[in-house]
Amino acid sequence: MNKKIVRVGNVTLGGKSPPAVQGMVKTKPSSVKTVNWIKKMEDAGCRMVRIAVPDEYEAGFISKIKRKIKIPLIADIHFDWRLALKAVDEGADKIRINPSNIGASWKVREVAKICNDHKIPIRVGANIGSVKEIKKSDSTKIRARKLFNAVAKEVAILEKSGFSEIVVSAKAEDVPTTIEANHLLAKFRYPIHIGVTATGLPEDGIVKSGSALGQLLREGIGDTIRVSLVSDPVYEVKVAYSILSANTDYKSKINFIACPTCGRCKVDLEKILMKIKSHFPDSSFPCSRTLDVAVMGCEVNGPGEAKNADIGIAFSGKKVVYFEKGKIKKTLPKKSAISFLTKKIKQFLK
Ligand code: SF4
Repeated sequence: MNKKIVRVGNVTLGGKSPPAVQGMVKTKPSSVKTVNWIKKMEDAGCRMVRIAVPDEYEAGFISKIKRKIKIPLIADIHFDWRLALKAVDEGADKIRINPSNIGASWKVREVAKICNDHKIPIRVGANIGSVKEIKKSDSTKIRARKLFNAVAKEVAILEKSGFSEIVVSAKAEDVPTTIEANHLLAKFRYPIHIGVTATGLPEDGIVKSGSALGQLLREGIGDTIRVSLVSDPVYEVKVAYSILSANTDYKSKINFIACPTCGRCKVDLEKILMKIKSHFPDSSFPCSRTLDVAVMGCEVNGPGEAKNADIGIAFSGKKVVYFEKGKIKKTLPKKSAISFLTKKIKQFLK
């Protein structure tokens, strides 16, 4: 189903728009670090940024942040509906409310009224931990249904107030419940924000996010995507792009292929790959064509194992071989490997 189009500042959600990557800055609005983090997130391709607004004092910093950043700013409101009003006055581009803690219907209606007046959308976002009806002993299906019900109740209040600039989300900390709850949300005509909550460290969170969001995206569910990790917010944005590229037709401009290394590898391939990758942030997503670039640990198997790559390098003692579609074109000293490949990538991307 083509979703209703909802605009968040200069970003379009729904319709035929590609899923927009959003992030959440982890500092308070008043922190001197907040704008710097958001700028780094912008450089990594973050299209919208959310920020927690814990009290009125912090809400007062929204307009100051907005003046210094390029992407839409979303105010994350819990418990106190009046903070949403203040955030809108301060220029927030979207409000996120949590159905389970915002309270009485009239409070939601007040938030809808001011958002309507300022033409900004509201995300109704339920997290499994905050829906008190959900018990640990509930089956996946029941947990998902209760999560959905929490969202549906709030959506009904907004609709009754004549408000329809709505984005919905339902997040669990486990993969099956997240998928099941989003299958239920897909019945709404509103754009869906997808994510898994409280995923843990990157080694766990990337797997959980990739499994749940990957499946949903392949089913065509998800208009905006957020990866949550116990890690820095720039890294979260990069992982979100990786999930999108791996599971949809919306590709990043470069797909890096690299071998896991083995006893034949004599270089620090991880360090080399990270250096090369750092020259190419994902900000030009999505691209009509992806360049497959291989960085391989040895010359014996590297070019063959990466024969589907457009271009690549493989290390060999003090030398490195450069290859195109698996065919060796040039041998050069190891120390010029990074600059040579970086230059080649830029040439091929022109
Ligand atoms: S390309 Fe070479 S170094 Fe890399 S995994 Fe294969 S054999 Fe090992």
